[in-house]
Amino acid sequence: RPILWGANAIDLLQNRNVLPTDRVTPPTIHLVNPLQSSANCNPDIFRCTLNKIPESLSLLQKSRLPLGLLIHPFRDLNNLPVISCNTIVRCKSCRTYINPFVFFTDSKKWQCNLCYRTNDLPEEFQYDPVTKTYGDPTRRPEIKSSTIEFIAPSEYMLRPPQPAIYLFLLDVSSLAQQSGYLYTVCNTLMEHLDSLPGDARTQVGFIAYNSAIHFYNISEEYNQPHEVTVLDVEDVFLPYPDNLLVNLKSCKELIKDLLKQLPKRFEHTHDTHSALGAALQAAYKLMSASGGRVTVFQTCLPNHGPGALQSRENPNNRSSKEVAHLGPATDFYKRLALECSGQQIAVDIFLLNSQYCDLATISGISKFSGGCMHHIPLYSESKPQLVKTLRKSLERYLTRKIGFEAVMRVRCTRGLTIHTFHGNFFVRSTDLLSLPNVNPDAGFGMQITYEESLTKVKTVCFQAALLYTSSKAERRIRVHTLCIPVTESLSEVMYSADPQCIVGLLSKMAVDRSVTSSLSDARDAFINATVDIISAFRLVQNLAQTSSKLMVPENLRLLPLYILAMLKHPAFRTGTSTRLDDRVFAMSEMKSLPLDQLMRYIYPDFYLLDCLFVSGNGGYVDDGHKLEPPRLQLSAEKLDSRSMFLLDCGPFMYIYIGSNVASSIVHDILGYNSVAEIPDFCIDLPSRETKASEALLNFLDIVNEEKPYTSYVQVIRDTSQFRSAMIEKFVDDRNPNSLSYYEFLQHLSTQVK
Ligand SMILES: [Zn+2]
Repeated sequence: RPILWGANAIDLLQNRNVLPTDRVTPPTIHLVNPLQSSANCNPDIFRCTLNKIPESLSLLQKSRLPLGLLIHPFRDLNNLPVISCNTIVRCKSCRTYINPFVFFTDSKKWQCNLCYRTNDLPEEFQYDPVTKTYGDPTRRPEIKSSTIEFIAPSEYMLRPPQPAIYLFLLDVSSLAQQSGYLYTVCNTLMEHLDSLPGDARTQVGFIAYNSAIHFYNISEEYNQPHEVTVLDVEDVFLPYPDNLLVNLKSCKELIKDLLKQLPKRFEHTHDTHSALGAALQAAYKLMSASGGRVTVFQTCLPNHGPGALQSRENPNNRSSKEVAHLGPATDFYKRLALECSGQQIAVDIFLLNSQYCDLATISGISKFSGGCMHHIPLYSESKPQLVKTLRKSLERYLTRKIGFEAVMRVRCTRGLTIHTFHGNFFVRSTDLLSLPNVNPDAGFGMQITYEESLTKVKTVCFQAALLYTSSKAERRIRVHTLCIPVTESLSEVMYSADPQCIVGLLSKMAVDRSVTSSLSDARDAFINATVDIISAFRLVQNLAQTSSKLMVPENLRLLPLYILAMLKHPAFRTGTSTRLDDRVFAMSEMKSLPLDQLMRYIYPDFYLLDCLFVSGNGGYVDDGHKLEPPRLQLSAEKLDSRSMFLLDCGPFMYIYIGSNVASSIVHDILGYNSVAEIPDFCIDLPSRETKASEALLNFLDIVNEEKPYTSYVQVIRDTSQFRSAMIEKFVDDRNPNSLSYYEFLQHLSTQVK
């Protein structure tokens, strides 16, 4: 009998090197029907904390594991089946889309796998135009693939598909001028005007703001853009009915002129005000007829007009155990976001601040409108690494695909129900998320509970359907279906748990807990969740309470490692100075990053690179096999002065070069004659015609392939002053305010009952 489920337990105190040297893969979901098993949803898209669902709430509670889903619904995909058909086959009763996990009772009927109603199959679905025969519905793409996209017929639209409309809101206060961000933003935008998603109808517009609101009339009648300033920010109005949002194609030259002029336009003003609230109100008025995307570049605290805020951060409390002001100071931004949401407008924020901006309050405008946020603290045009970061993230932002006027509904098999959603959206009804925009880098989470037991069923399914308008004005529906077996065995539940997905879900719950209760409550909850799970397993295993071992199911061996990393993350750490906006941003990332990126954000990938530079085997390619450098746990113990390392934190990476690395390798990859010659600040990794350089760059390409945009790289000598930036990421090690991984395990073992 094949062993379908892992059943090994390990003692964490005896096995401290728990991280595999190759990638951490999600547990496999085993279904009885192999065709259905292979058709199941890709775990990068849709993932459950448990890969065997307990048959009842009481069984779930015994396991102490959280039950929930993480989804990355609009992820960029290489092979997406797209179907255009007259009839989209859906259950008459619960509206589920036909999928690989339905039951065919005969050639003309199918039974819904969510509500169990039997439905008729339309003739069209039964007919195979290739063999010209009836009766084998399993050849259809809807039955072969769990991820599929339909081009929607007209009944899926409330109005004709809206054109792509992009409005840019630019802070031009004196702090904004000091940061110099407008040069990079305007240049990057100018370079990518032709790559903005859209068609011949695409429109763009610009509003600048300080103590006043500056509109730009971009009319073909004028030979250059015409600025009109509205001084009354308390009751902002649009100075023109037209020409503020203009057709990108026909006005391209005028738009380029404006982008050239804007960085200089306010250069010598000393206006310290920033009327963000009024600018957003103007944006709402301008966009409400059509909907679209508003992009805000903010550099300082909004301190003028409606929505003005006061500084709430006490810099002396940045390392204290309790953190105040994690929630909003006013509901102005949330209320405006809900109005925007109603008109299909999403607001995204690029926060490029050098001072406290109260992100906890202004983030409401993005959170509830389906927007996204980027944050580059202490931004300045004089810091090349930050300019690079802004440029790369903005390029991705401008050129990635986008869906407008979207809604997402997540259905689950009868007996289960969703009770809490996480991410940026507005919940319109219990399971319907309103997403004025949907972007391919947004992740969502859901917590699940029971309405009734699942004793009569062998599997349960979850189906997410995302209805949106493409940038080419097509109404489309992207559907993902996930199928998971049900079990009555507690140990099977525990052996099927997915530690990454659990950590992803717990991080979202902890953010809510920090805001509604306190940071220390959220931190305690992480530890309690871990202790409870290990205690539950001790019961399953019938282990003595006095055991000196810390036994966990093998599949959960990484859980304490990740939990400790979470406790040391800027979102949840205490003891280490953390600016309030940085913490709030980190929390917002916990809520909205897709799981693969979230894991790198919590526990960066750390590689020993030496195998790339082994002389004699020609570097990277060895007998046609690609060498994958091994991953290491995040501890300074792993560093060696004769070796090179890569720390991949997602948007940025560090390459660490030990002082005794061979000069020939340093020369081959960087062009310097020795390690000592590498400058302290080094962010250029040249492409050199050497085996070593090729091997390294090839490997970085592979690592970057999994990300929305390529990382910027900093090279660090082990005597560099930037060494500490990297050492800070070694979360397995102890520091004055927190436990090492081993101490944490010992602490857990004293708590386990
Ligand atoms: Zn149904």
